[in-house]
Amino acid sequence: MQNIIHDICTGLLDLIYPPFCLVCNTAGEDYLCAKCIESIDIIGPVHCHTCGMPTEKFKCSDCQVREYSFESAASAGVFDGTLREAIHQLKYNSRTALADPLAEIMVRSFPDTRLAGRIDIVVPIPIHRSRHLERGFNQAEELASRFCRRLRLTLSTNALVKTKKTQHQVDLPQDLRYTNVQGVFRVNNPASIAGKRVLLIDDVITTGSTLSEAAKALTGAGATSVCAYTLARSI
Ligand SMILES: [Zn+2]
Ligand SMILES: [Zn+2]
Repeated sequence: MQNIIHDICTGLLDLIYPPFCLVCNTAGEDYLCAKCIESIDIIGPVHCHTCGMPTEKFKCSDCQVREYSFESAASAGVFDGTLREAIHQLKYNSRTALADPLAEIMVRSFPDTRLAGRIDIVVPIPIHRSRHLERGFNQAEELASRFCRRLRLTLSTNALVKTKKTQHQVDLPQDLRYTNVQGVFRVNNPASIAGKRVLLIDDVITTGSTLSEAAKALTGAGATSVCAYTLARSI
């Protein structure tokens, strides 16, 4: 019911104030215009089966020397150009209207729709409580809730908690990104995770450290499997 009311209100607002693209300012289109969507570099089915990096190889060179706590990760598009700008607008300029078209890109590029039938629960990567207060929302949750609504998946926004405020991964050199997130996630209620096949959702994957650390907490709580899916991937 809440969703229907939200959709009606959004529709009425769009009539009064027609939307404009929040990336290129084209008026009268959606919050992300067709031209901007078209310019996004979508990652096709040819990618590393472990971390989702576009490569012809089954395993990319990084994954040949690294272990992750998740089974596999995949991403919708390359973190560059329009997609990078759209994520920046969503996250740092509170343009939450972008979550709708961005989640739609995630739905359309979901690598294996059959996988949806093998997921028990979808968990967005949490942000620290203080960051949540400061920003007012968690971008991963905004994306995951819409993704779940479209694919009729079960969302759990309180399964994982981030117990420490960390530095932004993007500000750190690669070697410090592993230690920056070590032990920062805790499972709220292990009984709700035990025996479940989990899909983690985040906005961007860079080294995979954050997703791996979250997956470690979930498998520690008894999750049967943990896969990850992000809107974008740094390459
Ligand atoms: Zn545009
Ligand atoms: Zn890889």
